[in-house]
Amino acid sequence: MPQPDVPTTDIPSELLRDELPLPEVSEIEVVRHFTRLSQLNNAIDTHFYPLGSCTMKYNPKINEAMARLDGFANIHPLQATDTVQGALALMYRLQEWLREIAGFAATSLQPAAGAQGEFAGILMIRKYHIEQGDEKRTKILVPNSAHGTNPATTTMAGLEVIEIGAGPDGEVDLAVLKAVCDEHRDTIAGMMMTIPSTLGVFEDDLLEIIETVHSVGGLMYMDGANMNALLGIAKPGEMGIDVMHYNLHKTFSTPHGGGGPGSGPVCCSEKLAPYLPGPIVTIVEPASDEHEAPLYGWQMPEKSIGRLKAFHGNFGMHVRAYAYILAYGNQLDQVARHAVLNANYLRVQLHDTYNSPYDRLCGHEFVVEGRWKDVPDVHALDISKRLIDYGIHPPTNYFPLIVPEALLIEPTETETKATLDHFVSVMKKIAEEARTNPQLLHEAPHHAPVKRVDEVRAARQLVLCCQPLPAESTSDGVSASSEPEVVA
Ligand SMILES: *Cc1c(COP(=O)(O)O)cnc(C)c1O
Repeated sequence: MPQPDVPTTDIPSELLRDELPLPEVSEIEVVRHFTRLSQLNNAIDTHFYPLGSCTMKYNPKINEAMARLDGFANIHPLQATDTVQGALALMYRLQEWLREIAGFAATSLQPAAGAQGEFAGILMIRKYHIEQGDEKRTKILVPNSAHGTNPATTTMAGLEVIEIGAGPDGEVDLAVLKAVCDEHRDTIAGMMMTIPSTLGVFEDDLLEIIETVHSVGGLMYMDGANMNALLGIAKPGEMGIDVMHYNLHKTFSTPHGGGGPGSGPVCCSEKLAPYLPGPIVTIVEPASDEHEAPLYGWQMPEKSIGRLKAFHGNFGMHVRAYAYILAYGNQLDQVARHAVLNANYLRVQLHDTYNSPYDRLCGHEFVVEGRWKDVPDVHALDISKRLIDYGIHPPTNYFPLIVPEALLIEPTETETKATLDHFVSVMKKIAEEARTNPQLLHEAPHHAPVKRVDEVRAARQLVLCCQPLPAESTSDGVSASSEPEVVA
């Protein structure tokens, strides 16, 4: 271990105790407690989970086995590079594959999540302009169909958002875009697009949009969290995108949503490569012949925006994504083909029951309205809560913001036709219940450990710990047992 680089100090005596009363429980009590807790939630291993934009696909167990291999799980990030050549080789190949899959020149595995990948990309764009002596380029165009992290990232990076409205087809309005580019031509840093957008729409005019932004000196950022729709089929780098992030925890099946940390590698064109966050893995010494391995090491890109993460990103996620890509090999396009097919199958099946504001071929997800004219007091939230009673995780609701009462549905490629058909029949049943017994929806979920949460009270009286409730305040009127219950 390296020498500590902070002064050593003694522990204050009042913190040193001879007796420390810790709860004493038997092993079986611990096992039952955690097993029971694990079953209180919906999870991809137990339930269909069509949570739009989150790509809750099956996480293959082989990935877990690989990430737990001794040589990956028990190495230290400060180990000498000659003792961890296997880990570096894996990271190097993953960098290369991600770069190749999306058609870019270089990759950094540093960012710890999608939003941090966005942050990296925007800082890279900003630094690029500054290096060109173009300091006044501080504006980023963001369509209103973008993911919420896009404007948030822009603001966090200290730049200014210009919102671009969508036309009636859900696509960026080209006339509006051209006018805005004209008006701000000297101050535009770039544009940030979620592709396909949060409406599940792939822009017909994408190439023209990119050309328009480039023509005024702006760079194009693609939010690639939705790469599940394009994988192995289309390469954003070849379309003219300058920088993009992936969400390994979505597209490449590493567990997320309480199941694990994220990983948001960022890929870019030749022009932006010197600005990538680092260090990144590089070949220090090429292999002497085909039977030898090259020697890998670390390199900080020349004009790097710097480090984003302690050590080298979430390495365990790199191993899982590597195993996933290796398992598919040159059939990676099957992922996207089936994801898009499944989404369109559901879209068409639900077409007559739920209103679709953008009624067109979708990417890997689509949005419907969770409301009907004839039952105005039933809302998307009621439908979502009722789905829980049927053992289905709700779709994303109230997002995207530009669709009222939105339900964003993303089945992913890993579901069977039987599961999709079951979901359709449940969605139709709920539409029927909305007419015959709307109270059933308003009070749902009826069969979940936590009943309908009083959202106003939960927001005003934030209680974030587990504690026993007094009998009168349990939601279903049953007197509280000694079992702790989650309050909010
Ligand atoms: C999930 C998602 C993000 C954010 O990714 P995190 O890993 O949660 O930070 C950004 N954009 C889109 C389109 C997403 O779906």
